[in-house]
Amino acid sequence: MQTITELSKKPWFLGSLVLVFVVVVLWSIPIEKRKYGLSQSNLVTDYTGLLPERVERVVKAENRTKLQKIVIETNEKGGQQISVAGLQHSQGGHTYYKDGVVLDMRSFNDVLEINEQDKTIRVEGGATWEDVQNAITPYGLALKVTQSQSIFSIGGSLSVNAHGRDIHFGPMAGTVKEMTLLTPTGEIKKVTRESSEEWMQYVFGGYGLFGVILDVTLELTENDVYTIHTEELKTVEYESYFKNLLDHNNTAMHYARVSVAPSSFLDEMYVINYNYTGKQDHKTPLKGEQGIRLSKLALDLGRQGGFLEELFWETQKLYIDSIDGNTITRNNAMRSESTFMEFTKPGRVEVLQEFFIPVHSYEEYINDLKQLLSSNDKNEDFKVHNITVRYAAKDNHTSLNYAKEDMFGLVILIQHGLKEKEIANAKAIIQDWTSLTLDHGGTYYLPYYRYQTKEQFMKSYPEWEKFREEKLRRDG
Ligand SMILES: Cc1cc2nc3c(=O)[nH]c(=O)nc-3n(C[C@H](O)[C@H](O)[C@H](O)COP(=O)(O)OP(=O)(O)OC[C@H]3O[C@@H](n4cnc5c(N)ncnc54)[C@H](O)[C@@H]3O)c2cc1C
Repeated sequence: MQTITELSKKPWFLGSLVLVFVVVVLWSIPIEKRKYGLSQSNLVTDYTGLLPERVERVVKAENRTKLQKIVIETNEKGGQQISVAGLQHSQGGHTYYKDGVVLDMRSFNDVLEINEQDKTIRVEGGATWEDVQNAITPYGLALKVTQSQSIFSIGGSLSVNAHGRDIHFGPMAGTVKEMTLLTPTGEIKKVTRESSEEWMQYVFGGYGLFGVILDVTLELTENDVYTIHTEELKTVEYESYFKNLLDHNNTAMHYARVSVAPSSFLDEMYVINYNYTGKQDHKTPLKGEQGIRLSKLALDLGRQGGFLEELFWETQKLYIDSIDGNTITRNNAMRSESTFMEFTKPGRVEVLQEFFIPVHSYEEYINDLKQLLSSNDKNEDFKVHNITVRYAAKDNHTSLNYAKEDMFGLVILIQHGLKEKEIANAKAIIQDWTSLTLDHGGTYYLPYYRYQTKEQFMKSYPEWEKFREEKLRRDG
């Protein structure tokens, strides 16, 4: 029999030990599932936990008559606000008012009808994209527009007029044929695109202020099979690269990531395209979350900044390179992982922000951004972990419109501390960032925590006055 000393000289033995060590390390990475929003008694908070508030009551949405009764009775009583909550992933307290009534839409989630011929689905407002994908995949159908993840509710997504990675369909509001709305005065109305009362224009991107979306009929498309194409680029090449992509019409979906590693800060990017193969799919199952611990380990390394952020960027590039040439169905491309991003370090918070910038201003904007942000945030409180770029085509459907022309949306993952002065510092940087964006003809997205000033809001959304007038008029 060989002794341990003899065994330790064998390469296979050492290799096995390393493998066991890596597996143990990976398995010991905790997978966090935070409690937030309606999961917490009457003291609710938003996804960031920054805005705890006591509400009077939370009502589970069971049926239309009950919802209608609550709206009418609360209006009659007066003095109390009603809010609507989907999956509560918005950051900033959009789904509750102090001492108000919260309508919890999560149980109002039935798929009502799938029309294979017309390629449409009618579904209740509390259903998630996951519910919709489960229902339509067997028919070989897929969504036209959804966020990068499938964890959100339909009502919550339309109320922010979400956008995704498809470069041809524009924002989500354009994919709704019909809607049933419970208006602020308690009427239940069928609303179509042609309807002269223009409810859709205010309800979509209206953050629950114009009534409850009870159900919608969404346009669908085929569950195409795509080839993934990945490429590394310099930031200065991106504008013309993207215009070329649009002109050639071979790509269905696209997104990009910009380096936040110190040595290539805002200079390097990689792109991921989903190219048509001409094939469609009826049988590939929906994928579950994969590689959560590994992705979390990599992100946690990047969170340390400095050299480890360099390592994270290089690892991402290697991974992206490794998926070049793979095939994937449209439905699976529309359900990216999210659990690995959970972050629960005491005293710190991670928030999202999104800035929209006209496509033709991208290069100039990034150059100016380099002057504003620190390329190495290792020792700073305010840290930028990730910048993803998506295309948001001009929106002709909504009043509170973030894309008045063709835009790139830069989604930013930020971490900062929770002490008063740390929050104030984050606020100051994000306000400067917003001013820079406005100077370049851009806007910012409203589902996230509000660091911006009122003036910045009014400049980003010049239709706010008309929006407010309509809100007051339709409240009755
Ligand atoms: C990790 C992460 C990734 C994201 N990725 C993207 C992305 O790729 N693209 C993008 O555009 N956005 C993205 N977002 C933002 C996201 O789309 C919004 O926060 C969306 O509102 C979340 O849906 P929800 O069901 O959680 O809505 P909630 O947060 O519950 O509600 C959002 C708003 O909708 C209202 N509302 C909810 N349900 C209804 C209803 N039935 N009728 C009327 N009003 C209602 C609420 O009152 C509130 O104002 C992302 C957010 C996170 C946290």
